[in-house]
Amino acid sequence: MLATVLRNLFQPARTRAPTDMPPMPATFRGALAHDASRCTGCGTCAYVCAPKAIRFEEDPAKSISWLFYIGRCSFCGLCQQNCPTQAISTAATVPATMNSSAGDGLRLESVVLFRPCPRCGKPHIPMPGMATQYCPDCRQWAASAGLRQAFLAGEGATDGR
Ligand code: SF4
Ligand code: SF4
Repeated sequence: MLATVLRNLFQPARTRAPTDMPPMPATFRGALAHDASRCTGCGTCAYVCAPKAIRFEEDPAKSISWLFYIGRCSFCGLCQQNCPTQAISTAATVPATMNSSAGDGLRLESVVLFRPCPRCGKPHIPMPGMATQYCPDCRQWAASAGLRQAFLAGEGATDGR
């Protein structure tokens, strides 16, 4: 026993310091980060989240707040996998912008702003990566106008034969 005590006396301490933490694997799923410029407010992330860690608050015609409650999250990654615009990503660290001022746990708030439609002026959330930032109604109008034009051009070509 004395030999064991003497041997342990000359061993380094076994308690790990924060700097001794093993490196995080690239696929580690931690706290969520949210890119408001890519979010369309479709609600898919909240729909697939079983513990209801994602919620929305709307300021009508102005903005939608995407709210993430880390205390409810099971870090399953389903919201990230199902987001159609890749607005959600996961990080190994808790974002510094998280706060608990709401009184219902530590949460991350990301504000998605409504923008006026360039055709009708209706406030809406634009689709990321689209050249024309029309609202859904004007996108429908533009698609049917394109079809009508293609149809009329086809008719003209047939008449000219
Ligand atoms: S984060 Fe993605 S899934 Fe969630 S509302 Fe925005 S676009 Fe939809
Ligand atoms: S990682 Fe899973 S539990 Fe956490 S917010 Fe996304 S869907 Fe919900």
